[in-house]
Amino acid sequence: MRKPIIAGNWKMHKTMEEAVDFAEKVKGLVPSNAQVDTVICAPFLFLDRLVKEVSGYNVKIGAQTMHYEEKGAYTGEVSPAALKGIAVSYVIIGHSERREFYNETDESVNKKVLSAFRNGLLPIVCVGESLEQWENGETNEHVGSQVKKALQGLTKEQVKDLIIAYEPIWAIGTGKSSTAEDANKVCEHIRQVIENSFSKEAADSVRIQYGGSVKPENIRTFLSQPNIDGALVGGASLDPDSFLKLLEASI
Ligand code: PEP
Repeated sequence: MRKPIIAGNWKMHKTMEEAVDFAEKVKGLVPSNAQVDTVICAPFLFLDRLVKEVSGYNVKIGAQTMHYEEKGAYTGEVSPAALKGIAVSYVIIGHSERREFYNETDESVNKKVLSAFRNGLLPIVCVGESLEQWENGETNEHVGSQVKKALQGLTKEQVKDLIIAYEPIWAIGTGKSSTAEDANKVCEHIRQVIENSFSKEAADSVRIQYGGSVKPENIRTFLSQPNIDGALVGGASLDPDSFLKLLEASI
């Protein structure tokens, strides 16, 4: 059985003070590690402090992107080695906002996924279609291609461990979510692509999150679907009570 995984993506929100306040309010109230994996993906500046704040609790800390090189002349970038060095566990790779605003491509996503594994970080690999692709019935083709390209060169064992977040771009931050049934069909397709490219065991083990306007009120409908194992949540992960409700609904 696949354990649910709920990840908050804070994007460019909060100050250090607000981040620490959130961690203090939430850490003692999260369900146990046997029930759910809990991740907070915060801006770089807060990561070190958050890792220390939640140490010993069922909360892991993730970054929202990283460079694929271990070091070098890349002004402003953060390396996977630096993230690992402060005990960050996860890294979101290929979020649609990174693809749209920061030239993230399938090729750079693949380099980052490989680099995350080389450096002992678990990637949350984001895929998803635009509204136009959704309306034209091109979702499976597009998402399948993103998954194949992102995972190229990984071993079956690595694929089993990683997280895929299926996020229809038109549902992110818009208040419009996909229906749970539609999202489940796309996640089923993703599993099939992984089975074809790697193995049935990898396809059965990989955890797939849905993301796109998930809230405490609708998370259960997504998690009750057979191919959806968790959620990547932006807006509704910012408030401690809301985040705790998402976790409670997942167990
Ligand atoms: C996201 O940031 O990945 C996301 C899904 O945002 P929201 O939950 O706000 O739609």
